[in-house]
Amino acid sequence: MTTRRQFITTGTSALAGRGLSRGAEEDSKGWIDAHVHLWPKETKKYPVAKGYDKSGLRAGFTAEDLFAECHPQGVSRIVLIQMSFYRFDNSYMLHVMSKHKGVFAGVAIIDENAPSLAHRMRKMRTRGVRGFRVYANAKNASAWKDSKSMHAMWREAAENGQSICCLADPDALPAITRLCRKHPETPVVIDHFARIGMRGPVDQDQLDQLLKLADFKHVTVKTSAFYALGAKKAPYMDLGPMIRQLRDAFGAERLMWASDCPFQVEGGHSYRDSIALIRDRLQFLSGEERDWMLRKTAERIFL
Ligand SMILES: [Zn+2]
Repeated sequence: MTTRRQFITTGTSALAGRGLSRGAEEDSKGWIDAHVHLWPKETKKYPVAKGYDKSGLRAGFTAEDLFAECHPQGVSRIVLIQMSFYRFDNSYMLHVMSKHKGVFAGVAIIDENAPSLAHRMRKMRTRGVRGFRVYANAKNASAWKDSKSMHAMWREAAENGQSICCLADPDALPAITRLCRKHPETPVVIDHFARIGMRGPVDQDQLDQLLKLADFKHVTVKTSAFYALGAKKAPYMDLGPMIRQLRDAFGAERLMWASDCPFQVEGGHSYRDSIALIRDRLQFLSGEERDWMLRKTAERIFL
């Protein structure tokens, strides 16, 4: 009989090449972008979920489109985030991941209320899925405390070393804090600074709530989506004080840079300006801290 631990160990080692692999070359260079969405140019083979409207979005953003942006900046590995309009159908993301072995890890979206949740989560791990995205607005997240399946998901994530990746609004932070308190061993990733600064300058009260999550040692924060926050204007130096406070509270080893492509390369914004903020511009970051934010933290969380 296979115990759960053996299952996880075997599953992990047998498929070690599926996630982000650590080659000798990547050790010496090669940054990791911890948050990108891809979708195909034609969606006949991968139709979008019922009720979703993708008009208004670009026709497609493929791995090749991404490489054209990220390779010139020294980014060689990427964490893919399931695109919203595919809802629970992760097949395109999984297809891209298997086509480019060692390049991508994935964050999937699953229905936590459908049967066999634990089995589905473990199975996805063998295909390189290292996390699950949840939408954390105040209404959704406040319902979590009474949701058996959400608690089961957080428990199972802790067992598998998969992360709960929260696309959070600032007003969902109290509910996220409650779940962290209940499941302190669950790895949790907060996307895009919990979107603090989305509606204008950074609000210090909201940031203080995010900083308090540093008490939970398995919480990490993505410093990402610069195009959408604060002044929303390159070189994004107005976000520096928020990043500095996060560095002081969490340490760079719990922060991850990400572009949120393709949205970072639209409307006059560029990939280079995104990575340059962390890599070249913020002078309070040491070389070692840049290394954590641009590679090592994502390697630890998503490898
Ligand atoms: Zn995104």
